Amino acid sequence: MTQAKICFIGAGNMTRSIVSGIVKSGYPSHLVHATNPSQAKLDALKADFGIEVSNENTQAAAEADVIVLSVKPQLMQQVCEQMQHLDLSNKLIITIAAGITASRYSDYFNQPIKLIRTMPNTPTQLGVGMTGLYADASISAEHKAICQTLMQTGGKVLWVDKEEDLNQVIALAGSSPAYFFLFIEAMIESGIKMGMDAANARALAEQAALGAAQMVIENQDLSLATLRNNVTSKGGTTAQAIATFEQGDLRGLVDQAMNNCVDRAEEMA
Ligand code: NAP
Repeated sequence: MTQAKICFIGAGNMTRSIVSGIVKSGYPSHLVHATNPSQAKLDALKADFGIEVSNENTQAAAEADVIVLSVKPQLMQQVCEQMQHLDLSNKLIITIAAGITASRYSDYFNQPIKLIRTMPNTPTQLGVGMTGLYADASISAEHKAICQTLMQTGGKVLWVDKEEDLNQVIALAGSSPAYFFLFIEAMIESGIKMGMDAANARALAEQAALGAAQMVIENQDLSLATLRNNVTSKGGTTAQAIATFEQGDLRGLVDQAMNNCVDRAEEMA
């Protein structure tokens, strides 16, 4: 990455995970600045990573080449409007907030801007996240590379061609950790009903989920159906469970849930 000055507006969970990743990868900490209203998070970031910190959004943004907007969506308009008087024409603005379209940021800043929208998911905080990225044709390859490097500190990234495709990223990656949590939760509840100790039920279900994900990732040459069939003996226990899911139209339910997720993202945009 070129040695750009990067300023994070908002020093919460996402900023902490991205800052941790870039500083650990060798990015000079004196080129990284984070702002936040309350001091405790700033003190922790400074102590842990040696970055610059302050509660002056506008001043920090004025001095930066790259501004990462990392506040909650409901605060975004107010935070951007405070920076309207800055000349943003040579700066890259990266947003990690859900649901706010690129055109709305231009309105908030009241000027044309160079913006990349990103859609991380919560496992980003553990370095095993998935982030969707969208930039329009006006964004340079250098700016795209800076953004990609930043977001890759949290896991994998995928560029989408159209802004509305970020809604599909939400359905497949942004919201989907919660689908898996629900499935694991249901398995644990069932295990407990069968008489198993809650901690043991969780230990079994969570390790099975981790192992299944790892098998999918490490067997890219095999289809999901093949992986499933490999552990499903005819007339056996797994076959019995899978048949129950199919009879209950699990696939149809997943399809409906994901379409409803996209519809909601479109409504919120
Ligand atoms: P967070 O932990 O609540 O961090 C937001 C930070 O913004 C807080 O530290 C807050 O400070 C600070 N803040 C509030 N008002 C501010 C202002 N006027 N100027 C500067 N900073 C201000 O939230 P997060 O989880 O990091 O999420 C940040 C963004 O990422 C959100 O838009 C969220 O939708 C998006 N996102 C998060 C995830 C995720 O995995 N967490 C995934 C996808 C997208 P105080 O707490 O001191 O008020």
